[in-house]
Amino acid sequence: MSPETPAEQRLSAETILRAPKVLLHDHLDGGLRPGTVIDLAEAIGYKALPTTDPEALGRWFRDAADSGSLESYLETFAHTCGVMQTEEALVRVAAECAEDLAKDGVVYAEVRYAPELFVERGLSLEKVIEAVQVGFAQGERRAAVGGHRIRIGTLLCGMRQHARSLEIATLAVRYRDEGVVGFDIAGPEDGFPPTRNLDAFEYLRTNNAHFTIHAGEAFGLASIWEAIQHCGAERLGHGVRIIDDIETGADGKVHLGRLARYVRDTRIPLEICPSSNVQTGAATSIAEHPIGLLTRLKFRVTVNTDNRLMSGCSMSSEFAALHEAFGYGLADLQWFTINAMKSAFIDFDQRLELINTVIKPGYAALA
Ligand SMILES: [Zn+2]
Repeated sequence: MSPETPAEQRLSAETILRAPKVLLHDHLDGGLRPGTVIDLAEAIGYKALPTTDPEALGRWFRDAADSGSLESYLETFAHTCGVMQTEEALVRVAAECAEDLAKDGVVYAEVRYAPELFVERGLSLEKVIEAVQVGFAQGERRAAVGGHRIRIGTLLCGMRQHARSLEIATLAVRYRDEGVVGFDIAGPEDGFPPTRNLDAFEYLRTNNAHFTIHAGEAFGLASIWEAIQHCGAERLGHGVRIIDDIETGADGKVHLGRLARYVRDTRIPLEICPSSNVQTGAATSIAEHPIGLLTRLKFRVTVNTDNRLMSGCSMSSEFAALHEAFGYGLADLQWFTINAMKSAFIDFDQRLELINTVIKPGYAALA
């Protein structure tokens, strides 16, 4: 936001906090409270943490994730996953996730994780999924008692570098009436194209199930094209590299390539995570982030946190950063929020109800 922006258009932190927000891309193992990581490590005798001071540990996660490459960013997950190997740990982390998001003004969130990462100490995949659902329900109840209404939908992830996607997709379908709303594949993009998991996507489509794919974060257009046209992804996790198919001429005219036009015109939601992209080097700064141009071109842009612990962010801090960098006001924040709600994997009537009874009235009250 430029210094000349009139004071009446400046949004206070309190206004942004109170604005209803919808989050589609948040990793359960990327959003722990530092104090919880320490407690859980102690409970199971996990000795590999770099420090046991909560504040210093929070800083360590942000710094380690700031290294500029996706691969080393993913290394920080060794610690969070390392302490999430028991039922009690999973319940606690999921409950706190729901509570923290609710306190941040998030009214609907889809939180994702890969069940196969939490079986090191003998939990079955089913036990992992059930424990997380118990935790989300607990957190939703505790948030409601505190006056914050939130609903969490779960996305189960397969890991690109492993070969268990079909098995996880089967579980996503099996648990779809118990709060699991969709599927995703995560992990390193380079060298692991989404088409490696075609059997999982075919299974999901056959079963009328929903899925998004991490594509177009570290890797370019080929990955986005495969995710949409070969795999049938309904949304793109990140998708920022779609910018590589958009050219701005010397005359300032913007030209969209065919893939960019397809993504925009078929309203494929982009799950954009600004701070995370800056940390992994997918964008140089928030101010230079492609979200500015993509928003101007009316792509279906949504704003997301990705990993709140590693990026030291929240939905409110992401909105505040965008307000600061691009001058987005309440109408823009509502647009991102409704884009996200429209793109959620829950039933259409439930999305509509949240838009009409929670989101629109919430923004109207702030205006
Ligand atoms: Zn992600």
